[in-house]
Amino acid sequence: MNFLSVNYHYIGNTTYPFSGIYELPVDVLIKQLNELKKAFSFISQKDLMDGLIGGKPFPEQSCLITFDDGLACQYDLALPVLDELQIPAVFFVNGEPYKDECVLHIHKIHWCRSHIETNVFMNLITEEYKKCTGSYLDADSISPSDTILKKLYFYDDINVARLKFILSRNVLPGDIEKKIISNIFRRLVPDEREFSRKFYMSKNELIYLHSRGMLGCHGFNHKSWLNFDKINFLKDIVEWKEMMRKIGIDYKNITLSYPYGHIKDDLIQESAKELSEMGVVAGFTVDRRINRDLKNPYSLARIDTNDAPGGKYPLMEIVNKKINITSERFIT
Ligand SMILES: [Zn+2]
Repeated sequence: MNFLSVNYHYIGNTTYPFSGIYELPVDVLIKQLNELKKAFSFISQKDLMDGLIGGKPFPEQSCLITFDDGLACQYDLALPVLDELQIPAVFFVNGEPYKDECVLHIHKIHWCRSHIETNVFMNLITEEYKKCTGSYLDADSISPSDTILKKLYFYDDINVARLKFILSRNVLPGDIEKKIISNIFRRLVPDEREFSRKFYMSKNELIYLHSRGMLGCHGFNHKSWLNFDKINFLKDIVEWKEMMRKIGIDYKNITLSYPYGHIKDDLIQESAKELSEMGVVAGFTVDRRINRDLKNPYSLARIDTNDAPGGKYPLMEIVNKKINITSERFIT
């Protein structure tokens, strides 16, 4: 079996002053989907679930398209393209934006990074840190060597990589980081609610996606599950489920996309029974692999659009309907 999953984030044509948000233009999306079509049969979330629950076989070379973060641009721009090409997909959404029309911490970071130059942003973080804690923040001493950073953030320059590391690996105490970023974000966006309403899909759009079997879970508030214990991990999914129920979405089975793409194997093993009882059928990482079997449904590999055939840094190419691995970054 060759089961590939390809993930997307921002779709559109806007270019921002600084790195932080890269929108994938619709014509590039179409080109990539057509490229993937040469070797893969597209499957839906339901096909995946039927394969996992009922043992229904997949086509030998299958592909599931996914979108993370529940962004309005995905619904507005990508869904019509998918429908036109008759390609199914899963949209993994968070719960918190529907609770009180907030903007998720991760997206405040993206917005700040794309509107503030990296070094200026880092200085603002140290300034706000000093205000919050009274002490000085030494960015170099709390991040790993340049070599490790380069490995972790292949696409980014070193200052961006350092900033990303500090803001995504729980380097700063969670509540302090949240306060710092919120303060900086507020300077750019005074009305968070209005921003949230435009930035995320609406509740009705989620209901519509669910009615088509295209809705998945990306956690309640996009907190990394990497350092969560079993209780907090399961609580997060229950909170998401509760939010969806309030919106009017009741599901029997669902798949997960792990926030930031990572989860520990032992947490998954420990929680497998409860996950299954909660109707969670599978979970997607961002491991750069093709799934050769479905033995570990909670550790399914998924690659970024950049890494897929037709992307900026493809790990593989398609020749005569066959997949040739062309990069050593691909995990065998
Ligand atoms: Zn995400």
